[in-house]
Amino acid sequence: MQVALVSVGDELLAGDTVNTNAAWLGERLAERGASVERVVVVPDRESDIARVVNELRADYEAVIVTGGVGPTHDDLTMDGVAAAVGVPVEEHDDAAAWIADNTDYERADLVEGTTRLPKGSRMLPNEKGVAPGCAIEGIYVLPGVPEEMKAMFESVAEEFAGQKRHVLVVETDEPESALVERFAELRERFDVTVGSYPGDHVRVKLQSTDEDELERAATWLRERVQSVQR
Ligand code: ATP
Ligand code: MG
Repeated sequence: MQVALVSVGDELLAGDTVNTNAAWLGERLAERGASVERVVVVPDRESDIARVVNELRADYEAVIVTGGVGPTHDDLTMDGVAAAVGVPVEEHDDAAAWIADNTDYERADLVEGTTRLPKGSRMLPNEKGVAPGCAIEGIYVLPGVPEEMKAMFESVAEEFAGQKRHVLVVETDEPESALVERFAELRERFDVTVGSYPGDHVRVKLQSTDEDELERAATWLRERVQSVQR
């Protein structure tokens, strides 16, 4: 299953906040066998959210949007997603009822707009906060606050599936440029994908849906590279 992520927030574009939500979702989705094919960061602007979500939903099975959920002036994600799908936003009775039953908030105390969701969407309760998320036509809207986002994702995690890929990492002190031919041979011999990530040393990330094949490939490579001196 191929998934796109949309991270909403001026603070992400300005570099004030690091986009840890996208990183966390990428990891969790990969664990479930779904792969993230795009991450797009957009400002708190309804038209940008609508345009990007609309483009991505045509190309990917699911789009997960985080941030900009709630009642403040810069929370425009529900409007943007509703516009992308072509429906209005409206008061969602399930959302107000869930909040009244499960939080300290009374219906009357809620800031106006907190429970407005795209018409026809499924409400996703916010177990760690107040403002709900929603799901509509393969688009999942989750809060920006990482703790709230994670809890809400877990409530829908089973809807993201695919063939699980196994991962092994081989580390080496050799420079990346020296490894090119061995990578080519590795990819020829084994049914694995090979990612090479330089840093203090090179991390070679091997992935395969076949665990035994992955193990054979990692063994082959470990026997042929200089290991890391710690
Ligand atoms: P609220 O309902 O509290 O307004 P929200 O869903 O509208 O939450 P935002 O207002 O966009 O979320 O962001 C809330 C907090 O979460 C901010 O401190 C923001 O920096 C942080 N945050 C938002 N998006 C991300 C992200 N992609 N990665 C990490 N932190 C994020
Ligand atoms: Mg907000």
